[in-house]
Amino acid sequence: MSRKASVPTQKTKFLRVKCPACGNEQTIFSSATTKVKCLACNHLLAETGASKIKLKTKVLKVFG
Ligand SMILES: [Zn+2]
Repeated sequence: MSRKASVPTQKTKFLRVKCPACGNEQTIFSSATTKVKCLACNHLLAETGASKIKLKTKVLKVFG
C-alpha cells in the first residue's frame, strides 16, 4: 500500500478576514482553489489567481 506523503510545496496559511459587506468574520485558506464567499451574505471575499489567492477584503490575522 503506497501512501503519498503530503508535503506542501508552499506554505499554507489561514487568514482571518472580515466581510466588508456585513462584517462577518471567517477564516479562509490562503491556498484555496475556489472562490471564497462570505458565509453570511455570499459577498465575494477572495478569488483565485495564477498561484495564490487574491483577497478582496482585509486580512485581520494570519495563522500558521
Ligand atoms: Zn458578508
